[in-house]
Amino acid sequence: MPFRDLAGHRPVIGLLTRAIVRGTLPPTLLFDGPPGVGKWQVAQAVAAAVNCLAPIVAARAEDGSGEEGAAGSETRIDACGTCKSCDRIARGVHVDVLALEPDEKSSIKIDPVREVLERCNFRPFEGKRRFVLIRDAEMLEPQAQNALLKSLEEPPASTVFILVTSVAGVLLQTVRSRCMRLRFGRLTEDEVTGVLTRDYAIAPAEARAAAALADGSISRALAQSSEDLAEVRQTAQAFLAQIVGSDDVRQKLEVAKLLIGAKPERTREEVAIVLRAAQSMLRDLEVIHAGADLRVLANPDLQDSLTRLTRGAGGDRARRAFQSVDRALMALDRNAGSKVVAEWLAMQI
Ligand SMILES: [Zn+2]
Repeated sequence: MPFRDLAGHRPVIGLLTRAIVRGTLPPTLLFDGPPGVGKWQVAQAVAAAVNCLAPIVAARAEDGSGEEGAAGSETRIDACGTCKSCDRIARGVHVDVLALEPDEKSSIKIDPVREVLERCNFRPFEGKRRFVLIRDAEMLEPQAQNALLKSLEEPPASTVFILVTSVAGVLLQTVRSRCMRLRFGRLTEDEVTGVLTRDYAIAPAEARAAAALADGSISRALAQSSEDLAEVRQTAQAFLAQIVGSDDVRQKLEVAKLLIGAKPERTREEVAIVLRAAQSMLRDLEVIHAGADLRVLANPDLQDSLTRLTRGAGGDRARRAFQSVDRALMALDRNAGSKVVAEWLAMQI
């Protein structure tokens, strides 16, 4: 997929395309950022833009932001998406774009790495530059990382290595230090919604609801089937409705159990998903309370019940609750126990 069809990451993509145009693309790159935000697609788009037989070169940004003013007339490059080279890269059969991916045991062993490195001793066969793309690079076994080291230090002529990972810290320090690191952020809810509706034909309302819980990750949004999603939202809604109506400590602790679930209890990640659903509802409460344009609601189907909730938790209380949920999510992220977090949160709202 060419750069222009990818969601988000405009600063990183801008950096990469400028480097391609100027011929200064570093031979060893590390793409680091949350899972499911499109790092791998950007790596493929780099390989495609460099090797495209009819690249599209434009004098300013694709998004029409008219950046040419301050920065001078900036040249951007993108793959055409239709030539022989683009087609082969998209199908994963381009002889000069080599992908290393984890095997079924979730590891990248030394043998496939050696094989790929051997091929790097030759000049590119049909492309301008050879690319070695390593997906989930944190799965590289230590010996495989050591085998890579020399090539990262003195990359073979015409070869670019791109290591893609969401946990760069797991890689050997020696590997990390030999790569130029580019950090990817989370996607916005709008960007996730856009990809779900355009690339996965998910209905807009469902896409928005899934995006609200996905923490900026496409894969996370997709992982939730619509059934799960309905259950998660129901739980979040019930939690908010009951907690707002209650001032009794014992009752609040009882409501906290809703978040944990029973038989089986939710995992920490599942509790976080419910909390993100609650958060998107609290944001909607503020929108309704402020009398803002209701078209921006993330949960338009819940408008009536959320409006009822604003009577108990409009304005300040909703805002404070939102912040408490935020802190609860951070605590879960740091591996705090779900029960402790749920009870703490129930007391805060
Ligand atoms: Zn092309």
